[in-house]
Amino acid sequence: MADLCRRRLMWALGAGLAALPLHALAEGGIEDEATPKPKPKPRPKAPAKPAAKPSEAAKPAAAAEPEAAHAAPPSVTPEAAMTRLMEGNARYVDGRATHPNADGARRVAVSSAQRPFATILTCADSRVAPELIFDQGLGDLFVIRVAGNVVDDAVLASIEYAALHLGSTLVMVLGHERCGAVKATLDALAGRGDPTDRDTHIGALAALITPAAQAVPSDADDRLDAAVSLNAAHAAGEIFAGSRTLRTRVLEGKLRIVAARYDLDDGRVTPTRARQA
Ligand SMILES: [Zn+2]
Repeated sequence: MADLCRRRLMWALGAGLAALPLHALAEGGIEDEATPKPKPKPRPKAPAKPAAKPSEAAKPAAAAEPEAAHAAPPSVTPEAAMTRLMEGNARYVDGRATHPNADGARRVAVSSAQRPFATILTCADSRVAPELIFDQGLGDLFVIRVAGNVVDDAVLASIEYAALHLGSTLVMVLGHERCGAVKATLDALAGRGDPTDRDTHIGALAALITPAAQAVPSDADDRLDAAVSLNAAHAAGEIFAGSRTLRTRVLEGKLRIVAARYDLDDGRVTPTRARQA
């Protein structure tokens, strides 16, 4: 419960998070007094060859200390991961998709171990398929999908797992245009909730989207689109604030957490900060 309150506090403090680099959030001193600023820990020495073959990555480091025993070296730098994602999206948008890493040879190559270079938290919406819109294949992306791309403990744990054990160096929270979950939350807050949703768990989902929905400026031209971007930024903030391990990696430059918006019409993914620059 204390953790939940802390997250709410972080959100209240970071209501304008969409305009702030996450590095700035931490460096600006918005720190929880109950969570001391993380200090760099000694990291397991990465192998000389960063992109280990799946079979090599699967071998346990028997002589290593417990913390290092199952940690995976970074797949690529966070910057390279971002470039790879955006280049794939450009191919998709331009009709030049190559559908890489989708054949039988790739299936066999990644069957014993995976090294996804990026983690994508996005909506369960049937029109937002990360492997398609980023033109990636088997073993490339660690994908977590839940309506409204919200963060709870299970989602946070999944992201931590990908970063610590699979070497993923980029986390992208991807909201999308005309998101039904975000719209339902806005409608409910406006007293226009769908009676069909009574006696369901949909309210629990809306509760996680509510902070972003309530942060939409009253003069926003498109309240739904503003809420979509704020909700993605809010989730990125929740990931940063909610996991000391991930926060440490971000501050050490080993992990990047970004928020972005997917356009259903033209297929383009736009990082939130870039949209505002
Ligand atoms: Zn959605």
